[in-house]
Amino acid sequence: MFMLNIRHILERARLYFGRKEIVSRTDEGYVRYTYRDMFDRVCRLINALEGLGIGYGDRVASMAWNTHRHLELHFAVPVMGAVLHTVNLRYSPEEMIYTINKAGDRILFVDPDMIPTVRKILEKLETVESVVIMSSKGHEDLGFNKPVYIYEELLEKSSSECRLRDIDENSPAAMCFTSGTTGFPKGVTYTHRGIFLRSLATCLADTYALSERDVILHIVPMFHISSWFMPYAATLVGAKQVLPGPRPKPEIIYDLIKKEGVTVSDGAPTVWIDFLNYLRTRGEKNIEPLRRLIIGGSAPPKALIKSYWELGVEVYHAWGMTETYDSAAAFTRPKSYLEDLSEEARLGLVAKQGLPFPGIEVMVVDESGKPLPWDGRSIGELLIRGAWVVEEYYGDPEATKKSFLNGWLRTGDLVTIDGEGYIEIVDRVKDVIKSGGEWISSVRVENEAMAHPAVLEAVAIAVPHPRWIERPLLIVKLREGYAGKVSKEDILGFLRERLPKWWVPDDVVFVDEIPKTGTGKFDKKVLRERFKDYYRGSGL
Ligand code: ADP
Repeated sequence: MFMLNIRHILERARLYFGRKEIVSRTDEGYVRYTYRDMFDRVCRLINALEGLGIGYGDRVASMAWNTHRHLELHFAVPVMGAVLHTVNLRYSPEEMIYTINKAGDRILFVDPDMIPTVRKILEKLETVESVVIMSSKGHEDLGFNKPVYIYEELLEKSSSECRLRDIDENSPAAMCFTSGTTGFPKGVTYTHRGIFLRSLATCLADTYALSERDVILHIVPMFHISSWFMPYAATLVGAKQVLPGPRPKPEIIYDLIKKEGVTVSDGAPTVWIDFLNYLRTRGEKNIEPLRRLIIGGSAPPKALIKSYWELGVEVYHAWGMTETYDSAAAFTRPKSYLEDLSEEARLGLVAKQGLPFPGIEVMVVDESGKPLPWDGRSIGELLIRGAWVVEEYYGDPEATKKSFLNGWLRTGDLVTIDGEGYIEIVDRVKDVIKSGGEWISSVRVENEAMAHPAVLEAVAIAVPHPRWIERPLLIVKLREGYAGKVSKEDILGFLRERLPKWWVPDDVVFVDEIPKTGTGKFDKKVLRERFKDYYRGSGL
């Protein structure tokens, strides 16, 4: 049987796209090379890893940004049959220790700017035998109690001749942990087959439509579900790839788009909100040659989608979870016969989470697990299964039992599905606001609030209320220059025109910063705790 594995993706790039470029921003400057060069270095890395004793099934951890070296690890580790565990750099030290020990990682590959973090946690890492610094020089005298190697020195000493193994497609290739908003993070394992099929699916003309002609800028961090596995899809089609390196700020993103001819990029709404702001401050009306943005991870506000349309950029809205190999579970593009909709209706459609990818199946069920109709009104939990949906949590039978129902993953998302099959998220089960027995969609409230020109970010949370059990409170971060110029009443008045009366929050709190989770989402748990007494004494 022909194996759908990562070896095939790598070899295809060498055979057919050997001259195409990969550009990487590192803290030692820009690196520019071809797929042929990458292949050569991946072979060296495989030999180096074998020299360090890594074999089939071993776990190798990375704590790294989006660079060519991290890309090389994404090929070398799974192609030799080992498993790449990308550690989330936004985790707390405790979460890093927990996940690395749980995965049983044997080697830690580390970007130079993560050295201070490694110094803090290394003593507590039970299975890590050595550390590799992902740079070309220095760092020998770190005083670590484990052997330290330098990435470029390891490669230099290794042969570029290697035999690529044909790994069984059901073998694990990578692993990641959920963001841990509820307790400690849960681990998931991704297979060669799942990554292969997911990559192929994102190249379909009706999905992300990735092609050899694209220049793809990977903004989603590789430490977050391997940059949504986009580097594999990009390699599969032989597209030019641009890796933005440590902490890519809007000015870096802008430069890379212009200089490298980027046509498509991806990321969470917050990144593209910041970028839009940057364009506005510069008075930029054009962001050519960028043509498509794939936005997911949380709901992109309609105002954001519209602003990019005005700049000539299509927004492709994607939905997914850590458990579904991230944002390739559902995807919104209007069907051909829906394309003539008014702008407002088209906006409404694109803001929905969309249709499942081919290879993915969904249902919406009520609390007893009974399927609900696809009428765009009945709200229930979304269940999902498919070719790249995990079937268990790593070493955690209890969490597995809780989250899976007869082979379906319980997403924890409350949704409607309309007659055309488009899914719309109303809320997450744990974020829902239930006021006087009625549901209020925090997603809708936030979406409308972020359409206000002065609002940069908005979060609606449920706060205990003596009369209504819960009432929504809106937490707002204003755009620069608006502090003191916009009142709570301005924002509430704006919402009154757009939302059902009882959905309008009772109050607005302005903050300088909105706390975010390890995956860059608004951390509602922290906010709910901070404001839990806000409505005490109201309403009675
Ligand atoms: P966690 O579930 O731990 O927050 P994930 O990254 O797996 O971390 O998040 C998955 C969740 O993120 C989904 O279940 C959904 O609630 C939310 N999400 C992801 N993409 C979207 C989107 N396009 N629109 C709205 N919510 C989204």
